[in-house]
Formats: sequence, C-alpha cells, structure tokens
Amino acid sequence: MIALNSPLKPNLKKLQVYLEKINDNGWYTNFGPMHNELTLRLEDYLGVKNLLLVNNGTTALQVAGKTLGTESILSTPFSFVATVCAFKWQKDEVAFADIDRQSYNLCPEAVKAAYRKGCKADTIVATHVYGNPCDVGAFDNLSEDKNLKVIYDAAHAFGIKIGNESVLNYGDASTLSFHATKVFHTLEGGGIVFKEKANFEKAKDIINFGIHAGQGVANVGLNAKLNEYQAAVGLVNLDEMDNVLEHRAALFHAYREGLKDVVELPTWHPEANQNGAYMPIKLENPDQLEKVICALNKENIQNRHFFSPSLDQIFVDNFNYGTPNSYQVSEGVLCLPMHAHLTLEQVSAVINKVKSNV
Ligand SMILES: *Cc1c(COP(=O)(O)O)cnc(C)c1O
Repeated sequence: MIALNSPLKPNLKKLQVYLEKINDNGWYTNFGPMHNELTLRLEDYLGVKNLLLVNNGTTALQVAGKTLGTESILSTPFSFVATVCAFKWQKDEVAFADIDRQSYNLCPEAVKAAYRKGCKADTIVATHVYGNPCDVGAFDNLSEDKNLKVIYDAAHAFGIKIGNESVLNYGDASTLSFHATKVFHTLEGGGIVFKEKANFEKAKDIINFGIHAGQGVANVGLNAKLNEYQAAVGLVNLDEMDNVLEHRAALFHAYREGLKDVVELPTWHPEANQNGAYMPIKLENPDQLEKVICALNKENIQNRHFFSPSLDQIFVDNFNYGTPNSYQVSEGVLCLPMHAHLTLEQVSAVINKVKSNV
C-alpha cells in the first residue's frame, strides 16, 4: 500500500523531556512557556513577526476575519471547504471569483472584473493552493487601489518564500494550519501572521474570550488557544523541518519531472520555492480521471480527487461571478501520494502507473 498521506511522528524521547518540563511548570495552557518558545522559534524559522498561535487553521481564519472586521468577502472557489466556512460561520457575505487556469489560484483579473460588476466585498480571501503562492503583487495593488483587506489562507504554504521573503508577510493576515496531515503539525493547531502589531494584540485578546490583559472584556472573543502539549509536539517536529522540507521538495521534483509530458501540472510561482505539501495533477476529463483512479486503486496506491467540487457548487446561494476555470480544474484534478515517509522508489511506481493509464 502507498498511503496518500502519513503524519509526521514526533520523536518520543524528545517529547518526554518536554512533557516532564510541562509537569514541572504546572502550566498546561494559556500562553505558557512551551507556547512562547514555539512562537519565537517559528517566527525565526519562517521569517515572520506578529505570529499568533491558535488551536486550528479554521479558527485562524475566523479570528483573522473578526480581528480585521470583515463583513463581506470575495473568495476563491478552489480551496478546502474551511476557507469559506470560517467566514460564513460568522455571517460574512461570501461571493466567488474565478481562479487562474494555469496556477489554480484566485485570479486577480477575475477579482478586478467582479469589482467592475459591482462587487462590494471589503476583503479578498485567497488560498496559496497546494503551497503555490498567489500573485501577491497584483492583490497588494488591488487592495491599495480599492482600499480592500486581504487575507491569505496559507494552510499549505509552510516554509514557502518568494525570493527571500516569506509568503506569510503578504496581505493583512495569513493563516496557517498545523493539523496532523499538514507539512508541519502540532496534532491540531494553527497560526495567524498579522501585518500590523495592533491587530496581533487585538487577536491575542479575541482568542482568550476577548479579555484584555486581565482588565476586562474589550471584544467579543472565543477560546482558540494552543495548549502546552500541542506546543511541545510542535517544538519536537520543528527540529525535523529542514529535512522534511528538503525531502518533500525532492519527491515533488521527481514527480513533476516524471509527469510533465504526460499530464497537466499547475504552473508554479517563478520566484518561489517548493515544500511538497501536495502533488496535484490534472487529467483531461472525468473519464481519464476515473481510469487513473481505478488503476491506482487496483495497486493500493491511495489518491484523492481534491479539491472537488468547486466551492460555489456547495454554497449555491452565494453570489458567483463566473467560475469556469474552477469547474474545469476541479473536474480533473487528482492528488497523488505525498508525505515525509514516502520514498523516491514509491514515487517512480506511482509515476509509471499514471503514465500507463493516460
Ligand atoms: C487544512 C486546511 C484548513 C483547515 O485547517 P484545520 O487546522 O484543519 O482547521 C483551512 N484551509 C485549507 C486550505 C486547508 O488545507
């Protein structure tokens, strides 16, 4: 069997040392020493400031929206369902604009067209799909021209840089997921990188019931704190991330080299690195997709038709500015096995199976 995903297993010897420290501290949650150490180490590792750790990547989106005061968003339809649910949950108005046909990321031209047609959304929500950075320059310009907020769902983009700059430093806020299935994890967990320090401070209150530094309730809040055990798992896993990212990138390159003349691959941002978070391919049509899925299943090679359907087909009551590219991509996209325990030999076996069925 070749698994689609296989979570990073934290080193138990190292973990034990952290867990004993937690007992010594007698401090299990509420911005404890492990939490603070992980925050500092992640800020350093990722090259960011104003990182707030939270309990998952969905609350990260909710808290980012609440902190920035979003009321209506224009979103990508090609993402995990949480990208949109997070905003619908707090009664934001949601509309969809199409993705770029080559990169599969929200298309700046489609966003501009939506505003020309009267879109009133105060915030653009875009996902760096599969870790591939959006056209952040175009969204920066749009946000300045039209006074819009930008939130990036960067759940797939751990360790991604454009040139020397972390992709997390674009937009008003970028959110991360540290779910067990992600490149880096704390079992469950997440983070928000805010451009403005003041928003970071506000969000820190919001994730602790809205209580402001012990002086009473300043905002409507919720409880979205990352606990000390989760932080300990993060500290242990972070030690492995150089190796993990290097290995995943090597697998990703091997896949892309082996499949580039066989199937469609999303075009990658020319100045960005790769983290091998996912291995998406796009088949020509649903028949070809079905054939490849059958062939892989027969060999016990796990795979996932992901993301599908296009989110505007789930949230049919939300306004849609036309999303033909998202339909086309979601109809034929397939994610192949990709994780830190996968070998280059297994990648070759998967490549051969795909090749002989298209
Ligand atoms: C995983 C994921 C999320 C949700 O993160 P959780 O930590 O599972 O809540 C949100 N958006 C995208 C794009 C994701 O892949």
